[in-house]
Amino acid sequence: MTPAAPTGSSADVPTARLPLRAGLEGLHPYGAPQLDVPVLLNVNENPYPPSDAVAADVADAVAKAARSLNRYPDRDFGELRAELAEYLRVESGITLAAEQIWAANGSNEVMLHLLQAYGGPGRAVLSFAPTYSMYPEYARDTITDWVTGRREEDFGLDAGHAVDMIAQHRPAVILLASPNNPTGTALPLETVEAILDAARTSGPTGADGEPTSAVVVVDEAYGEFRRAGTRSALTLLADNPHLAVARTMSKAFGMAGLRLGYLAADTALIDHLRVVRLPYHLSALTQAAALAALRHREELMAQIASLRSERDRLVTWLRGRGLQVADSDANFVLFGVLPDRHRVWKGLLDRGILIREVGPDGWLRVSVGTPEETAAFTTALEEVLEQ
Ligand SMILES: *Cc1c(COP(=O)(O)O)cnc(C)c1O
Repeated sequence: MTPAAPTGSSADVPTARLPLRAGLEGLHPYGAPQLDVPVLLNVNENPYPPSDAVAADVADAVAKAARSLNRYPDRDFGELRAELAEYLRVESGITLAAEQIWAANGSNEVMLHLLQAYGGPGRAVLSFAPTYSMYPEYARDTITDWVTGRREEDFGLDAGHAVDMIAQHRPAVILLASPNNPTGTALPLETVEAILDAARTSGPTGADGEPTSAVVVVDEAYGEFRRAGTRSALTLLADNPHLAVARTMSKAFGMAGLRLGYLAADTALIDHLRVVRLPYHLSALTQAAALAALRHREELMAQIASLRSERDRLVTWLRGRGLQVADSDANFVLFGVLPDRHRVWKGLLDRGILIREVGPDGWLRVSVGTPEETAAFTTALEEVLEQ
């Protein structure tokens, strides 16, 4: 039997002109190429799959949750919020209430909730480039002005420049990735504190004509990889009700496929996010799988130390090879400066290694993989650079 032509493919079907919003014409969906090659070092995933024990527990939890899929899930996911708070207590030594945690399908969605609550027409979101390429998309999708300041030569952030930008633009939201993607740079907490102080009275004007506070988001997607002595912005939450610290299970926790991101903040801020979220946005299966994975946090966190030392080894190797490497507190490394970075990226791909062509011109970003993957990468890079 010949299958029927899919709807819309026939020349006889009347055409329509879809009313795409101005500014979206010709745009492509965001995303790194997903290519099927042996060594994937392009999207900063944890290279270690969950163990059989973790996978079995996740599967059991999902099977159990499947028996009540006729019901909507717990809309406020109280148990998951309590377990995420417990994880942060163990990881950072900061004690938070379950009501201070918010979660969604990846920290990208958590940050979109922030923009939905605080952005909008006539408002601005401020960040400092080069930084995460999804940030301008949150701005675009919430019709918020996108404003960028600059980072220094070493990809650090000058506190004076940041404070000037805040005073000038009175942003509703300030997005600070620390460690920053794609550079790996962590912000000293003194810089974050200077920004929080400036932000306290420098948000947009409120309905009563008085200034509001700008919401400062410290995106710690790579927070667990920070080097010893680097403090998490979670330590600043108690004194700053206009601070939100975003985390994710996608990177250090090794659960990118789960889609679970979260943030910690004052309960008043969380209450605003609860207004804009879609009802039941976290499925019962996601909640069950995340809870099961969190029960194995010790095992999953044990890999972080080895990934950190693998990163430091990679930085040393690249520098030894005469390349410039940005200091990294993350599970990836930005290196340069290459006269033709596309040639190098392509040469690696031809050898079965996918890294990311991102960041300032002449630089490439490589994720930290297993020792075998690092060896494959360094061998291939030697060959490509000698060509
Ligand atoms: C990977 C990443 C995230 C996390 O994305 P998820 O939606 O949680 O998978 C957030 N911020 C930055 C800077 C990232 O690189």
